[in-house]
Amino acid sequence: MNRVHIKTYGCQMNERDSEAVAAMLRARGYRIVGSEDECDVLLLNTCSVRDAAEQKAIGKAGYSLARKKRNPDFILGILGCMAQNRGASLLDRLPDVDLIVGTQKFHRVPDYLDNLRAAKEAGAPIGEAIVDTAEELDSQNTIRDHMDGPEAQVCAFVSIQQGCDMHCAFCIVPTTRGDERSRPMEDIVRECAELAERGTREVTLLGQIVTSYGRRDYPHSGGISPFVQLLEKVHAIPGIERIRFTSPHPKGFRQDLADAFARLPKLGEHVHLPAQSGSDRILRAMKRPYTREGYLGIVRMLRSAQPAMAFSTDIIVGFPGETDADFEQTRSLCEEADFDMAYIFKYSVRTGTPAASMPDQVPDGVKEERNQILLEALRAGSLRRSQALVGSVQEVLVEGPDKTGLRFAGKTRGNRATVFEAAPRLVGTLVPVGITRSSVSTLYGELVLADAGLQTEPCPASL
Ligand code: SAM
Repeated sequence: MNRVHIKTYGCQMNERDSEAVAAMLRARGYRIVGSEDECDVLLLNTCSVRDAAEQKAIGKAGYSLARKKRNPDFILGILGCMAQNRGASLLDRLPDVDLIVGTQKFHRVPDYLDNLRAAKEAGAPIGEAIVDTAEELDSQNTIRDHMDGPEAQVCAFVSIQQGCDMHCAFCIVPTTRGDERSRPMEDIVRECAELAERGTREVTLLGQIVTSYGRRDYPHSGGISPFVQLLEKVHAIPGIERIRFTSPHPKGFRQDLADAFARLPKLGEHVHLPAQSGSDRILRAMKRPYTREGYLGIVRMLRSAQPAMAFSTDIIVGFPGETDADFEQTRSLCEEADFDMAYIFKYSVRTGTPAASMPDQVPDGVKEERNQILLEALRAGSLRRSQALVGSVQEVLVEGPDKTGLRFAGKTRGNRATVFEAAPRLVGTLVPVGITRSSVSTLYGELVLADAGLQTEPCPASL
């Protein structure tokens, strides 16, 4: 009755939330299992950003509920964004679900499971499902160090804020995640320091709009925003070798953040900078507070702070009213920005958002055509950029074995996945890798030092 499997849909924030729930459950004596076939409790941590993600989780829940016929003690819970978005209405389609827990209530999951299990063990009839999607004041302070066990992962996620105040016309996140709330800076720094002591070498600071971090709680200091102040503090932690963050908003990129990339070497040369569109008309309709030229200006500012800067982005194709000319602006923005990688989304209607009721919804066929055009252009650009690295030496943080288990994998400072031969003792260290070949998304190479296999000390941070 105590084996739990958590299946996560969607973004890194959801992954981080699942890790937190897993750690809380382990502390309560539950066993987290890797296979859902072995579990007594299945928790689906869901995503609402696009309809397809919701439908996938609903399909999975419906399929999993068939297990209750074979095993009436089986427990199914739906957590996270879709639970928040749909609440008790999920029971109309999935009446046998036991637990529906929203995004501000993850910390209540262990109590709810204890109650459900106790009732089942006592043979008490289970009545209504437990549904908890209420807002919780100061829920950002329920975020805790979530990694249990003596050794942390080489790369860890650290939540720095909850919610979002941006209200982009297409986006459901302000509904599913609530208002923007920042975690206290000292809690974040403490968590990063503890992770470093336990072996973490790279932290990714997570939030919906990380660049807005702390804007209501901390003043600017000498022109430095609270977010950059946080970066400085994490940068000072011994043992942390790399700092990444996602997702920022273009409006948060001021000179202080660009300068941070020049003066804080632990910030790698990579920025995820969601553009959404290259057309000023569509950006206005999306309620994105920047122009095409403003966006490209940020790209130039960051490349002048760090010439090797690699960019990834989010693009939506087929936003209501998007014409061929608007799409062409997006295509040419991608060319000019020279992205390393992009997530391209076909616009998905989200009930309750302003864009859902806009006229001139774009037909699915047109969205798909634009999606394919961009995918191909971005694939070609990404391959060109990765091929340009062949022959160079890249500093790679060794994360562990690659998918085959035969070699090792890590990422460059520019966030390129890299595969190479190494020794297990190098996991968690920065090593120089000579790049010998590349695919669209992965670099392949060899450790540069002939005696690298014997190396026990991390390499210097800049090679
Ligand atoms: N910080 C990001 C930003 O600046 O907008 C927000 C991250 S959002 C949770 C992840 C991505 O999902 C967005 O950047 C957007 O491209 C995509 N997205 C959100 N709503 C969408 C929708 N209704 N249809 C398609 N894609 C959507």
